[in-house]
Amino acid sequence: MLCSDCLFCKIIQKKIPADIVYEDDNILGFNDINPQAPVHVLFIPKNRHIEKISDIKKEDHEIIGQLVSAANKIAKKNNIVDDGFRLVFNCNKNAGQAVFHIHLHLLGGRIFSWPPG
Ligand code: 5GP
Ligand code: ZN
Repeated sequence: MLCSDCLFCKIIQKKIPADIVYEDDNILGFNDINPQAPVHVLFIPKNRHIEKISDIKKEDHEIIGQLVSAANKIAKKNNIVDDGFRLVFNCNKNAGQAVFHIHLHLLGGRIFSWPPG
């Protein structure tokens, strides 16, 4: 189910180090290596390599709930819920997706502009 040439699958298998801030049976959360906000955590499914959010099928719906639930927990832990935060899935080139293993960005700790750049 995991992929030998995927960066995030390697992080899951602990072949590449990451600053892990959340882990349960299904989801891994770790600090982004190039943070775009004071809180910038990436949440990924641990048991399946899914390339992009547009590949999500009905049987994957539970994974999306698990990603959001993990992000909410870390948002609470960082006290950024009341001020607000942003959750982002980038899909393909126009959104700037660089790693093709789905990941939910949790961004917080500063004010974000809208529309996004
Ligand atoms: P994307 O643009 O694909 O939505 O986001 C990929 C994110 O992964 C970027 O924010 C980038 O900084 C982060 N990233 C890329 N390589 C690594 C890595 O080796 N470790 C960690 N922790 N983050 C990474
Ligand atoms: Zn992967």
